[in-house]
This record gives sequence, C-alpha cells and structure tokens, in this order.
Amino acid sequence: MTPNNSNGTFRGEVFRKHRETRNGHRAVTLWFCGLSGAGKSTIAHAVGKRLFDSGIHAYTFDGDNVRHGLCGDLAFSPKDRAENIRRISEMTKLFMDAGTICLCAFITPEHDVQQRLRAMHEDGDFYLIHVDCPVEECEKRDVKGYYKLARQGKIKNYTGISAPYDPPENPDLHLETATRSLEDCVTEVLDFIKRKTLNSSMK
Ligand code: ADP
Repeated sequence: MTPNNSNGTFRGEVFRKHRETRNGHRAVTLWFCGLSGAGKSTIAHAVGKRLFDSGIHAYTFDGDNVRHGLCGDLAFSPKDRAENIRRISEMTKLFMDAGTICLCAFITPEHDVQQRLRAMHEDGDFYLIHVDCPVEECEKRDVKGYYKLARQGKIKNYTGISAPYDPPENPDLHLETATRSLEDCVTEVLDFIKRKTLNSSMK
C-alpha cells in the first residue's frame, strides 16, 4: 500500500488534523533517553498520568510494554536494537496519526540512533529529552538489580558499565534527576508539552 497523505499515512476519510482538532491538541512524540535508572519511565508515566487527568490523549511506551510484546523477538545485538527502534518509531507515527501524544522511554545510547530518530520524523513531531543522571547514582538506585549483575559480568555490554552511552548533543530538554525532584522534572515536561501542542485558543 502506498501512503497518499503528505505525512506518509494511508488513505482514509479521517486525517490526523481532524483528530488533533477534536482532541484540542497536537500529537507529538517525546523521546526520553538516558541511562537505565536515570528516571525515564518514572517521569514518562507521571507525565502520562497528568496528561490523562487533563483530558489530553497520551500513551507511554517503555521497555516493559514494548520489549515483551511487539519487540519480544528481538535481542540486544546492534541489528536487533536498530529494528527495535524502527518498529517503535513506526508505531509512534501511527499513534500520532491517531492524534495521540507519545511518551517513549528508551535508553537509546547511540548518537547515530538519536539522530536517525529525529530524521525519521517531520519537523515539530519529535522532541528528544535527555534524562541525565550520573552512572554512580543510577548504580546506587539499581532499580532492576541489573547494575549489580553487570558489575559481576553476568550481563554483558551493559550501557554505562561495559558499553558506552553517548549523551545527546542537542536535546530539546535536559533533566538532571540526581539534583532535581521528580515533580520538578514532570512540571518542566508538562510546560514543554503545553508550549508545543496546545493552541492558545484551546486552553
Ligand atoms: P529508567 O526508566 O530510566 O530506567 P526508572 O524510572 O525505572 O529509570 O527509575 C528511576 C528511579 O529513580 C526511580 O526509583 C525513581 O523514583 C528515582 N528518582 C529519583 N529522583 C528522580 C527524578 N527526579 N526523576 C525521576 N526518577 C527519579
């Protein structure tokens, strides 16, 4: 099937702009990147809840709901990581077509992937958020116990320990979670979303 809309979507009677108008806000993708334990999922889910409570259409994607289902057949080789990112971004494009704000929490350790993601989206559709936390603090948090296993050599190529992490060069937002509260970070993201998605006449 060949896309027949300027934004690469398929034939239909209801287009993204109709859904956005009815929803009262634009659809965008916010991509939270950073080390494991930096706070990506916590912030993305808290933002998703606040948007839901305000009647804004949003959905949060993270390793827990994507890696086990849609991408459950993929491992962590460079080829599988690339395919993982491709599938997620194709999915978020469909969600944006449905008028939904996508909150994506994925480590995304490589510069070229961060840049490719931006290039895969139309201007104004994609924003990169660096959830920044020193590896020592992430390791102290060790939310999933993976840092300990990585230090013991039981997990190979673990980002920040035995595999590199490239902090994004030009993130649209930079949140330092070791020195700022969760509420503070959530408020900053919500303000950013409002600026990018709400018409002044809408709210
Ligand atoms: P990630 O999704 O990046 O792997 P998680 O969100 O699963 O990380 O875990 C981050 C941990 O850090 C949580 O236990 C959270 O409560 C804690 N934390 C402390 N301060 C912050 C903050 N400012 N923002 C987000 N999380 C924070």
